[in-house]
Amino acid sequence: MQAPSVGGVMLPRGGGETIRLSRGASLTDFAEKINANPASLVAVMMNLGEMVTATQSVSDETLQLLADEMNYQVQIVSPEEEDRELLESFDIEFGEDEGDEEDLVVRPPVVTVMGHVDHGKTRLLDAIRKTNVIAGEAGGITQHIGAYQVATEVNDEERKITFIDTPGHEAFTAMRARGAKSTDIAILVVAANDGVMPQTVEALNHAKAADVPIVVAVNKIDVEGADPTKVRGQLTEYGLVAEEYGGDTMFVDISAKQGLHIDSLLEAVILTADASLDLRANPVQDAQGISIESRLDRGRGAVATVLVQRGTLRVGDTMVVGDAYGRVRAMLDDNGNNVAEAGPSTPVQVLGLTNVPGAGDNFLVVEEDRTARQIAEKRAARERNAAFAKRTRRVSLEDLDKVLKAGEVQQLNLIIKGDASGSVEALESSLLQLDVGEEVDIRVLHRGVGAVTESDIDLAMGSDAIVIGFNVRAAGRAAQMAEREGVDVRYYSVIYQAIEEIEAALKGMLKPEYEEVELGTAEIREVFKSSKLGNIAGVLIRSGEVRRNTKARLIRDGKVVAENLNIEGLRRFKDDVTEIREGFEGGINLGNFNDIKVDDVIATYEMREKPRA
Ligand code: GDP
Repeated sequence: MQAPSVGGVMLPRGGGETIRLSRGASLTDFAEKINANPASLVAVMMNLGEMVTATQSVSDETLQLLADEMNYQVQIVSPEEEDRELLESFDIEFGEDEGDEEDLVVRPPVVTVMGHVDHGKTRLLDAIRKTNVIAGEAGGITQHIGAYQVATEVNDEERKITFIDTPGHEAFTAMRARGAKSTDIAILVVAANDGVMPQTVEALNHAKAADVPIVVAVNKIDVEGADPTKVRGQLTEYGLVAEEYGGDTMFVDISAKQGLHIDSLLEAVILTADASLDLRANPVQDAQGISIESRLDRGRGAVATVLVQRGTLRVGDTMVVGDAYGRVRAMLDDNGNNVAEAGPSTPVQVLGLTNVPGAGDNFLVVEEDRTARQIAEKRAARERNAAFAKRTRRVSLEDLDKVLKAGEVQQLNLIIKGDASGSVEALESSLLQLDVGEEVDIRVLHRGVGAVTESDIDLAMGSDAIVIGFNVRAAGRAAQMAEREGVDVRYYSVIYQAIEEIEAALKGMLKPEYEEVELGTAEIREVFKSSKLGNIAGVLIRSGEVRRNTKARLIRDGKVVAENLNIEGLRRFKDDVTEIREGFEGGINLGNFNDIKVDDVIATYEMREKPRA
């Protein structure tokens, strides 16, 4: 085959064969598949009028364009597809129930609660949980594991419902974006005193996009001025028409606070599921499902809550969850009880995994430990590659901070060039001795005597390194190249200056740690009722000072009874003030929060970034 050239670079040319590339692949990945030099592909792109570096992740269109130019067919493989292929190579099919129709049994619907902030999602999840403890399990210590199950009676039959207890549609969206469908039905909470708000619409759109039926909970009907009819009218504009208006969406008026009509809401969920979904699963097969929430527990290791979607998960099973794997050592339900098995739609907390999986990762049980390990390792490797490919922006001292916060790098790569081997060594050893904690590593990839050259810049490009020139400058075209490629080159002539600057950048680079700092406490002496603002606390500041717009908690008889409150209004006599100091009296308005009593203490605090030592 004739190989054309651009600017003296030989271009590889294919014979129309198809190559498969992962989404977000780089020119280097492409070059590897066709056995070419990455630089030649950079040249092709340049020829097409696009400046692309060899390692940066490029768009589907760019890959397509490049392939056309060189006479290849390209097939872009999505991460989900790649994973399916990975599992297929182990003869595992994910996401389908085994067997026939008769192997399937009805499973409980899995429900997510969505809606605008402050409309009562958290409160509703609490209310549902409290009013509906499954018979026989009462008395257990309820535990927040990220999901729970309740029972309700519909047409004289006990029916279960699983709630995902991580409110907010962020989690929902994150899971969906990863192709993990966890939710069967969405409850859209709309406060009747506030009506449809921006996040209401957002939530609704997410549910629609995921093709998930919606039940509307019109909340806070106990509040003065609540107008449930108005909410129905508003939602009509978004295609949610209430049954009583001839539509097919169930609306239930509730008060999460007073526990009003929670049963009707649960019934509506079941009726909606029965009417529009066919929720069945095969309980007798190796379990599969998704992870909902997980964390690292000091004593117990990785603790992951998974939702079984099909099959039955048992203690002793070997499972893979995302890039974690392990043998199930123990399982706990949402009441903190040990359980031996969990069937479809059951959430359980699993102990025994090697590491902490991500929310939305799928899980599956496999026969052999070895298979589990291999799948997990392959996935981890793929993640690493993808993360590497995504690193399109080059690291510079100024943005080390941001890049690290985003979790993109944990390591600062350096290239040191200097005027004498003594000074280079001195600089290197002092830099390596910098104590910057455990999260960040300093690595010197290359050191040498002499000017900063094009090959130094090349190396820096390929490894996201920063170049340090000590008493030397960039030679020839190296400076322009660095400029063009965005490689950060720093020049110093005093060693301690170099060290100080790198150290400062690294400290910024460390993820900030926050600590809570108490600001002041206020004792409630009197409660005033205002028709406009709700309850106002007449207080005496006991310690520190209370400032407006800070966080607060409410303490009653020494116990915290409410968290995450806000000092929304602060008054001295008739004036709005921004702060009140110890020993003075004033009025505090906690916004929507009205549950205050004489003798309660309002403690205010803020989260401060801990300075690094
Ligand atoms: P989220 O942001 O949607 O999770 O909202 P929350 O559940 O945190 O509720 C926001 C505020 O509204 C809290 O102060 C709740 O106590 C209050 N709230 C929730 N439901 C009701 C209700 O039915 N009636 C009244 N009066 N207040 C409610």
